[in-house]
Amino acid sequence: MDRDWELKALCRTEDPEIWFSKKTWPRAKKLCLDECMVREECLEATLARESQTAATMRAGIMAGLTGAQRAKLAKSRRGPAVKRPEPEKPKVGRQLAPCGTKSAYERHRRKREPIDQACRDANSRSAVAYRATGSTKVFSVL
Ligand code: SF4
Ligand SMILES: [Zn+2]
Repeated sequence: MDRDWELKALCRTEDPEIWFSKKTWPRAKKLCLDECMVREECLEATLARESQTAATMRAGIMAGLTGAQRAKLAKSRRGPAVKRPEPEKPKVGRQLAPCGTKSAYERHRRKREPIDQACRDANSRSAVAYRATGSTKVFSVL
């Protein structure tokens, strides 16, 4: 960026303290807004330089604006924050029992799905348990 304008900055020729001491802020603002020839260039350069700077860290008067005012201006230029749509949550129904369980075996049968070996085994284990204990639950809590 062309920085020749900085040579014309009024604050170069005055005590810089005027721009950084809160007591003299009104004076600094007046100098920027009424007397500095390069206020526009200064404003753009300042906003660009401070683009990653938090509002509270924007020090002094620049281009006639306080740090808070510059932050506000920068924010208004960015426009309203665009709200991203929430990513769609996958619709999870009841968790299906994994293969290798009696429930999965029953499900395969209900849905007329091919029955894998893990589920066959689970079913026969369950049948064995039933014959042995009278319950399909291996550890009966009677
Ligand atoms: S506008 Fe103010 S801060 Fe910017 S160059 Fe001019 S005097 Fe300095
Ligand atoms: Zn299965």
